[in-house]
Amino acid sequence: MTRINIAIDGPAGAGKSTVAKAVAKDMNIIYLDTGAMYRAVALKAIQSGFDTRDQVVLEALVKDIDIRIEHDGNEQRIFLDGKDVSGDIRTAEVSIGASNVAVNPAVRIKLVELQRKIAKDNDVVMDGRDIGTYVLPDARHKFFLTASIEERAKRRYYEMIGKGMSDITISQIEKDISYRDKNDSSRAFAPLSKASDAIEIDTTSLSEQEVVDCVLSHITNKNE
Ligand code: C5P
Repeated sequence: MTRINIAIDGPAGAGKSTVAKAVAKDMNIIYLDTGAMYRAVALKAIQSGFDTRDQVVLEALVKDIDIRIEHDGNEQRIFLDGKDVSGDIRTAEVSIGASNVAVNPAVRIKLVELQRKIAKDNDVVMDGRDIGTYVLPDARHKFFLTASIEERAKRRYYEMIGKGMSDITISQIEKDISYRDKNDSSRAFAPLSKASDAIEIDTTSLSEQEVVDCVLSHITNKNE
């Protein structure tokens, strides 16, 4: 049976998760936010009092980590060592930590194994940084979303405010996003990059619905 695998990559705040969720809903398939997995590893490191850049510690930590994903309709819940951490992984500290742990090959290999298994067992829209290039290189549909850094910081700011986080500023978020952009694009193993066969969409001046429509129309056209 040929699975539907759709890869949506791009930097933080480019609109990947909103669009991936909407596309998954429209197509009645599951959505997998792979960033949540890197966040869960970072949360575990932070809670254990470790430096998220300590490569030796990360290799040991990831060996027996238990990360589980559940889908409740269109919503993804993530469990770390049996506990639902879907809310806890959304802080600014965990965002930076996730980008740090994502540099480590042992962490990536462990998480990619889980991601590929989910894609083998399910029709899925997967969002991340390396889905089209490394996790699912044979995915039939690949997209790469971008937006200006100012727009991405603004979107992330309002998203965090909406979740009740008040001790944040746009300029701090912009700094954090720049750090992650640089870290994610420059790492040696499976960096953030556009697959040569991915369709690039600059979402800076597009509404969410316009991006969703654009992605869906590319999928429909290619399937015809
Ligand atoms: O997408 P999100 O912002 O939640 O991702 C958090 C971090 O996880 C990213 O900054 C990136 O370093 C890492 N990540 C990754 N590969 C993925 C998804 C996320 O390296 N496929």
